Amino acid sequence: MIRRYLYLRRLRKHIYQREEDIEEYRLARLKGLLSYAYKNVPYYRRTWKEEGFHPSQVGSLSDIVQVPITSKEYLRSNYEDFIAQPYRPYYEQDRYYLAETAGSTGPSIPILKDRRCQDFQRAVAYRAFLLYGASLSDVKVLSTPQASEMRGGVLNALFNNHYLHPAECSSKLVEDIDPDIISLQPSTLGELLYTDIDISPEFIQTAGEILDSERKEEAEKRFDTVVHDIYGSSEAGEIAWRCPVDPEHYHINSELAVLETVDEEGDQVWDEYGDAVFTNLSNYYLPLIRLSIGDSIKIRRQSPCRFPFPEVTGIRGRTGIFALSGGERVYGRDVKEAFHAITGLKHVQVIANSEPYEVIVDVESSQSADEVLRSARKVAENLFDTPFTVTEQELQSDSDDKILPLVN
Ligand SMILES: [Zn+2]
Repeated sequence: MIRRYLYLRRLRKHIYQREEDIEEYRLARLKGLLSYAYKNVPYYRRTWKEEGFHPSQVGSLSDIVQVPITSKEYLRSNYEDFIAQPYRPYYEQDRYYLAETAGSTGPSIPILKDRRCQDFQRAVAYRAFLLYGASLSDVKVLSTPQASEMRGGVLNALFNNHYLHPAECSSKLVEDIDPDIISLQPSTLGELLYTDIDISPEFIQTAGEILDSERKEEAEKRFDTVVHDIYGSSEAGEIAWRCPVDPEHYHINSELAVLETVDEEGDQVWDEYGDAVFTNLSNYYLPLIRLSIGDSIKIRRQSPCRFPFPEVTGIRGRTGIFALSGGERVYGRDVKEAFHAITGLKHVQVIANSEPYEVIVDVESSQSADEVLRSARKVAENLFDTPFTVTEQELQSDSDDKILPLVN
């Protein structure tokens, strides 16, 4: 706990520093991690030797491009290969912390970490919390599938932390707690929206899934508050936080992770969409170095904003590739956003598992079907080079979402 506080104090200072000063700190951490991994993780030692890379080649942060990229699929089937030798005895005794996944399902890859890493990730998460105007004593509802393991203890009482399972977040329990802050997944927020629960938190923090702008606006109106979103993954924790000044971008917790984007050839790119590749600078138990996490994002190296952290300026989502269009990838998030913009559309379903793609449209009864179909056709034309059909049909759905699950 003391360590977490010391981390937090240091991290808070960074907010007022220049990017160059933080870079020094990051470079020292990166170098330390690389030599440690080379010495202690057989997987890295082997592949780096094969690829002709040695940690001593890294003299600046940009030299990270020399490190071979590892795919998430490889990590998934071989994660034990990534455990550092000094931690093996602990692993055999089941002694580790697991990444807390924000989503409703557990992690597909057990992301093992030690106490130090856990404390660092928590401190990083708290920094964003405090930047949004929270204080440690605010009453907080924190949603996690592992809620039952997190409850109890003096510290939770001291810091007013109430851990709830996502399913409990739409219950009267929340009203009884009357939180100043709620932290939950966008899908859980979606469920909360359709209850009659009466609360007015200072802010809502979302994490773990992609938050679409429609849901954000709806929640802000419904609870008369602001929604701050965190971009993260179970492999890395909270990678970036939505800027409180300009909510269009997310500042990267650069002390926690080196986040890069690469094109299809694996070359580093900036200011254009690419595959997210990240290095966790604080995990020595299961070092994750240049891991491709399967998201498509866009990064701006230098922020025009007062915060000295690079920023994510676009997130196309971890739904990954939804379809191919003339060899180009089409992302699920883009499909959803484009159809969301059509008025008079009750539901739409897009099926892209074979050609022609099918766009099935259910029109609001008050609207002219011809017009809605025409708009849907236009949207599909912009999205797909692939042949497609647009048909009108009544769609059954329990959800209030306009876009039914995409089929691909
Ligand atoms: Zn900013």
